[in-house]
Amino acid sequence: MATDLKLNKYIAISGVLRCRTGTRIGGSKEDLEIGGLDNPIIRDPVDKMPYIPGSSLKGKLRSLLEYKYDRVGWTSKQGRVVQNRASGEPCGCAQELSVCPVCTIFGPHKVSKHDLGPSRIIVRDAVLSDESRADLAKLLEEGLQYSEVKTENMINRKTGVAENPRAVERVPKGTKFILNISVRIFKGDDEAKIKAYIKEAVTMLEQDYLGGSGTRGYGWVAVENLTIDGEKA
Ligand SMILES: [Zn+2]
Repeated sequence: MATDLKLNKYIAISGVLRCRTGTRIGGSKEDLEIGGLDNPIIRDPVDKMPYIPGSSLKGKLRSLLEYKYDRVGWTSKQGRVVQNRASGEPCGCAQELSVCPVCTIFGPHKVSKHDLGPSRIIVRDAVLSDESRADLAKLLEEGLQYSEVKTENMINRKTGVAENPRAVERVPKGTKFILNISVRIFKGDDEAKIKAYIKEAVTMLEQDYLGGSGTRGYGWVAVENLTIDGEKA
């Protein structure tokens, strides 16, 4: 069933992402002067503050739902919908919400012609809270650019000696980012279901991780003060 392209309303979802551990969203080396870190985090080019790009956040939420609902690797070709999990690609089944929670909300992967209407979710860049902005500014006095630097080693299996130390930049634990999501509800949309799926993805984030090196402790976040459409979620 094709979506009726009458936009009924927007739903606001907001909250705070508090880093329970140091968190690393990778940036570009080019942004740093010569002699800088090998592994810088992403920063706003103007005020140099770390932030979490909406694209990173959206990709993470999407992938969590894809794992949960077995939507990895689906494609739609000439009306035939098939799954190839081995591809590891995001869902491109382009099926309606009752079949696939991902394609309607996030947009079908690599499908330009479909009947789902525009992606429902708009994930803003998550910027630092005012409080964290002030806290991290103190680090500036220590010569750190709103971040911490962690040195990591690899243990040589034969000698047991730590080798190849590398400096990795992270935002320190306790840092808070403002979560801001807008959801478009079109005529005929199952609003309750869309809200529930997004809430589920955001909640799963707490069990998973954000950014790099999550399996070894980075990027554990708590979602605090989550509100959906003005109501505490
Ligand atoms: Zn899909």
